[in-house]
Amino acid sequence: MQRYPLLIGGQWRDGLRLCPNRNPSDLGDLVGEYAEAGEEDMREAVAAARAALPRWRASTPQQRSDVLDAAGSEILARRSELGLLLAREEGKTLPEAVAEVSRAGQIFKFFAGEALRQEGDVLASVRPGVEVLVEREPVGVVGLITPWNFPIAIPAWKSAPALAFGNTVVLKPAELVPGSAWALADILKRAGLPDGVFNLVTGPGRVLGPAMLDAGIDALSFTGSVPTGRQLARECAVRGIRVQLEMGGKNPLVVADDADLAQAVECAVNGAFYSTGQRCTASSRLVVCAGVHDHFVEALAARCASLRVGHATSPDTQIGPLASEEQLRKNLDYIAIGQQEGAVLVAGGQVVETRYRGYYLQPALFAEGLSTHRIVREEIFGPVAVIQRADDYPHALALANDTEFGLAAGICTRSLSLASHFRRHAEAGMVMVNLPTAGVDYHVPFGGRKGSSFGPREQGRYAREFYTTVKTAYLAA
Ligand code: ADP
Repeated sequence: MQRYPLLIGGQWRDGLRLCPNRNPSDLGDLVGEYAEAGEEDMREAVAAARAALPRWRASTPQQRSDVLDAAGSEILARRSELGLLLAREEGKTLPEAVAEVSRAGQIFKFFAGEALRQEGDVLASVRPGVEVLVEREPVGVVGLITPWNFPIAIPAWKSAPALAFGNTVVLKPAELVPGSAWALADILKRAGLPDGVFNLVTGPGRVLGPAMLDAGIDALSFTGSVPTGRQLARECAVRGIRVQLEMGGKNPLVVADDADLAQAVECAVNGAFYSTGQRCTASSRLVVCAGVHDHFVEALAARCASLRVGHATSPDTQIGPLASEEQLRKNLDYIAIGQQEGAVLVAGGQVVETRYRGYYLQPALFAEGLSTHRIVREEIFGPVAVIQRADDYPHALALANDTEFGLAAGICTRSLSLASHFRRHAEAGMVMVNLPTAGVDYHVPFGGRKGSSFGPREQGRYAREFYTTVKTAYLAA
């Protein structure tokens, strides 16, 4: 039985107890047992990160780059094995899981480069004989709280820049997916990180999150639900902790009258249902203009009904299970709510029986969604998409923007002028043209507006805005 202990101050340690890590494709498959930490473990982890900070922040860019590069190489070399672990604990299909692991490796490689590119600015002063330097320094001890839907990519895209810029880290991954985070901790330790620079504390967020803030971190990067994120932001504000939040989405994909219909259907299938719809960038709203509406509904419903739902590691599976019983129940509740509200279920939505005991759901497609419907307004986080009928493009744009979220927005159109208009007017942090709303590059900023995000962007060169603090130095001879 694989055991996943805590990593505190460079030592593997037991927690209060062991918790099972079960495969959502097959509840009979126990992926491993992970250590559940208590508040005291969290305090010790933050103290270890604090103690390791002076040495790590004084390390050379080359030393930091070498560690990140070695970690990236090992992740890439082990992508099949780590992908299998990820698919078993989270439930996305094996190809999706292997791709996510590869992404994590590429992120470490990218930030191995960034570690070497820590430039600042030199400016002429307005005063004679004075020089001004604008330099960046690490923020300090960074807490990372991550969700279950990207078990290795999100820990990677937070920890790689944190470490590249000389911070020390305490990672608290989601309870459902401790295995991938543990593998990352193990790889980073063996890649040559000094003791205490990266600490892994697994267990319940409602206990360990407050303990992490109380223990005195300098910054918190969080990805997860809106209520938890908002609560953490308030608690960080009163403690003066720098905070970055990535939360929900209710991402619209507009289908204009002139769209390539086959392409639009594929964008919708991919964006709404791949990774079992459990992506914050999922195309959960499909805003379709009147001229193509009926054809689109018919074509997408047929595709939706034919999607093969099954065990995440079976070769012919297109859609894996929901990640947990709670998620399956929540999705089924929303499907019932949608029908009560008057939206029309045109495909799927039923629990799928397989030879395994798992959380299987046939992707659900609703039509005739209205802006007042809860299934149009609230993030469901699963393979449930709703079509909203639009009179024309201006109406579609208004519907697309009529949301409290603003992570990603997409449009399918053959018109350069519509594409350009949408790119400028979509109220979202990321805009996709003739692409699904989900699926991003790792070397460019990731993040949203409105209720989706708070604080500086993640990923790419922009990551340094959160993981460094600026110092302005004035020098006179
Ligand atoms: P989800 O609905 O995706 O599980 P959560 O926001 O509950 O979203 O979880 C995201 C991460 O936040 C997980 O690692 C979880 O353990 C953690 N978490 C949950 N509650 C709290 C809390 N009160 N304080 C800090 N972290 C929390």
